[in-house]
Amino acid sequence: MILSIESSCDDSSIAITQIESKKLIYHKKISQELQHSVYGGVVPELAARLHVEALPKILEECKEYFPKLKAIAVTNAPGLSVTLMEGVTMAKALSISLNLPLIAVNHLKGHIYSLFIEKEENFPTTILLVSGGHTQIIEANGLNDMKLVASTLDDSFGESFDKVAKMMNLGYPGGPIVQEKGLKGNENRFDFPVPLRQSPNIEFSYSGLKNAVRMQIEKLENEGSLTEEDICDICASFEKTAVAHIMQKMKKYFKSNRPKNLAIVGGASANIRLRTAIEELCSKNNTKLFLSELKYCSDNAAMIGRVAVEQYKINEFVTVEDIDVQTRLKGF
Ligand code: ATP
Ligand code: FE
Repeated sequence: MILSIESSCDDSSIAITQIESKKLIYHKKISQELQHSVYGGVVPELAARLHVEALPKILEECKEYFPKLKAIAVTNAPGLSVTLMEGVTMAKALSISLNLPLIAVNHLKGHIYSLFIEKEENFPTTILLVSGGHTQIIEANGLNDMKLVASTLDDSFGESFDKVAKMMNLGYPGGPIVQEKGLKGNENRFDFPVPLRQSPNIEFSYSGLKNAVRMQIEKLENEGSLTEEDICDICASFEKTAVAHIMQKMKKYFKSNRPKNLAIVGGASANIRLRTAIEELCSKNNTKLFLSELKYCSDNAAMIGRVAVEQYKINEFVTVEDIDVQTRLKGF
């Protein structure tokens, strides 16, 4: 079995995965959403402190599996350096004290492998990764054969939801809140510009849309107060535009690449409007669509454990001295 640790952002999570069967034996996650909600976003130092409390609590529950462990895995990049450090420090300590090899896992591969929890890998597939920190199109042929095809020039899809929610003091994470408010709103009231509409490139940008929303909110506030109806209309109009941007670029990608398989992964893949639009695009193009279970879309150690199983099989280990923490990664 492999014990895996995830602490790249605001979720403390540990999983135990059986190597041969890929079965998830144990999985627990303690989310910090509530603690960060008052600040409208993740506060790194607070997140790190909460990991220090949560991770040992979860680890305590895993002690019975220690004699069966063959390796310790941990997310080491990308993410917040201070929070990644907490998971990596625990992994190093376990690796030394239990005398087990260490596996460093790329968090984004984790999001991709959330598709394969308790399942065999399924490649090749094009991946649309939409999370809090990333908006990417990846062509994945295998664990160590992944090509980054498109990414965002600035903010990510999920992040733009978080920022729009913050502008109106709606709480964190913004995705589910904005989606919920948007369901009650008029999506045609505000005409926000779809980003990079004229650009021939397949790339994303969310900061312009975010600023257009900010200006609209300020205009309404200057004219009086922001009513609940205004908030719902802004959410609906923003979400419509945010999804239209992804879809415009995805259609372009489909036109030139005709993928056989497509998967959407990452926390923001929970967005219903996006899921529905992607489902339509796939069915029109005879593309098979794969989604991970909702509970594995956001950060968790089960997906890290699933990657670790594959790395274990090819002896992809790292030493306690060499493991490093990286906030950003260029490509795969
Ligand atoms: P990364 O993996 O890039 O480091 P992350 O792990 O913080 O980022 P996830 O946990 O995968 O990100 O996803 C969280 C993001 O998903 C948040 O930005 C959140 O607002 C967004 N999100 C969650 N649900 C929805 C939704 N229904 N609609 C839009 N965005 C959503
Ligand atoms: Fe993530």
